[in-house]
Amino acid sequence: MHEMSLVEALMEALLEAFEKHPNWLRARRVELHVGRLRQVVPEAMIFCFDVASRGTPLEGACLDLVEIPLEAFCEACGHRWGPEDLVFFCPACGSVDVETVAGMDLDIASMEVEEGDG
Ligand SMILES: [Zn+2]
Repeated sequence: MHEMSLVEALMEALLEAFEKHPNWLRARRVELHVGRLRQVVPEAMIFCFDVASRGTPLEGACLDLVEIPLEAFCEACGHRWGPEDLVFFCPACGSVDVETVAGMDLDIASMEVEEGDG
């Protein structure tokens, strides 16, 4: 289950944000953008988050996962295409000089926090 290692990296980033903002009491909601190529199982990710966040300011926060579809870009002709053509050569010119521009994301998009007087 690779979700646990992703959650550990996520927790590290979130707790670091809490350290920088001493007036933050706890998180209410975290929105996470996850690329399709990460092949994350949302239920597993949320389960791992619930376990890993126990005893931290993130305990009880709602984890919203937003799946980012795959998008590829052709270096040769500039063509871009999306998840419906999951191929690693350019459907327009046939070049294999192709870059994945979306789909590997694992970004904290936003976080709602409860603030204290701090
Ligand atoms: Zn092309």
